[in-house]
Amino acid sequence: MASITLDGQAFSVANIFCIGRNYAAHVAELGNVVEEEPLVFLKPTSALIDENHPITLPAYSQDVHHECELVLYIGKGGRHIAEQDALSHIAGYGIGLDLTARDVQSELKKKGQPWTKAKGFPSAACVSEFVPATRVNDPQQLSFSLAVNGEVRQRGNTELMLFSVAKIVHHLSTLYGLSEGDVIFTGTPEGVSRLQVGDHLYLVLDNLIDVRFEVQA
Ligand code: MG
Repeated sequence: MASITLDGQAFSVANIFCIGRNYAAHVAELGNVVEEEPLVFLKPTSALIDENHPITLPAYSQDVHHECELVLYIGKGGRHIAEQDALSHIAGYGIGLDLTARDVQSELKKKGQPWTKAKGFPSAACVSEFVPATRVNDPQQLSFSLAVNGEVRQRGNTELMLFSVAKIVHHLSTLYGLSEGDVIFTGTPEGVSRLQVGDHLYLVLDNLIDVRFEVQA
């Protein structure tokens, strides 16, 4: 069973929800339009890895992109969670990667098909350890970054989210219901680009947590 680590302890993972197009500059860099409601897709739990496992790229893609994102871990589920109650349902915050086979995704978009093949391969959902939510004063004031081989490729701040963490929790709980153990990727800022075998990735979430990943053949 898939699990994450929160404050040094293992917890099981239920669903993996992801939000797309949640930062304007990233929406623009891919030539997409800003959505009126959060764009939601899912990943299988078999896609999840932590720092103890390497990233492996699927053989059917030549263009796997990193998307560095704030990741939420839900501690208390619910339906129709009000925005003002939303943060109390979050047990932990982490930093992660929504890896995306961009070439495959482009083909799927043209055909009007789901994104699963582009977003759901093993290691496509990389997460750090999670820090307890009690250590985060304001989830809309978190800076984060991704460096690849020592060069910063993505730098973001959650204050630039189009849909806030509370809105995302409200939306997902209303349409789908949230469960204890759900993991939520909250969208990437600009700077997405291609990964290659041998790349060393370093992700930092504010002054809270950092994590390294390596891309292996
Ligand atoms: Mg993403």
